[in-house]
Amino acid sequence: MTAPTYDPENIFAKILRGEIPSEKLYEDEHSYAFMDIMPMGRGHCLVIPKTPSRNILDIDAESLAHLMTTVQKLARAAKKAFGADGVLIQSYNEPASGQTVFHTHVHIIPRFEGVPLKPHSGKPEDMDVVKANAEKIRAALA
Ligand code: AMP
Repeated sequence: MTAPTYDPENIFAKILRGEIPSEKLYEDEHSYAFMDIMPMGRGHCLVIPKTPSRNILDIDAESLAHLMTTVQKLARAAKKAFGADGVLIQSYNEPASGQTVFHTHVHIIPRFEGVPLKPHSGKPEDMDVVKANAEKIRAALA
């Protein structure tokens, strides 16, 4: 069986190329962070590498190290932005695990005691809410 390959037409590659919009939170030479539009919780955001890979299984170690440095930065900011009790950091790898977009990404989801997670890739959030939450995370990053 041949290994699955990277498709440069995936939606996050299009976001990186600016072909479709995203609510940007942070960018550096190696990574890009933006809001998830179907959040599993308040302030759910995503961090992606600028290099092409499908997921954690095929990303090169250097890109992964840069990615996780940005994940830590965003996780700290998202926790601070909402006064969260904790932060869930999650990665789905290949369809059997629930992955739906095949450009490596890490989910960052602030968690609050007693508040359950909403379903993965569930319902689109009101974009005014997404933008307001993004503003709080950007302020916490500053
Ligand atoms: P996964 O299932 O881990 O591949 O996650 C894909 C995530 O991307 C889901 O949480 C979706 O809600 C989210 N998503 C899909 N399309 C977009 C988009 N255009 N902008 C932001 N987030 C998206």
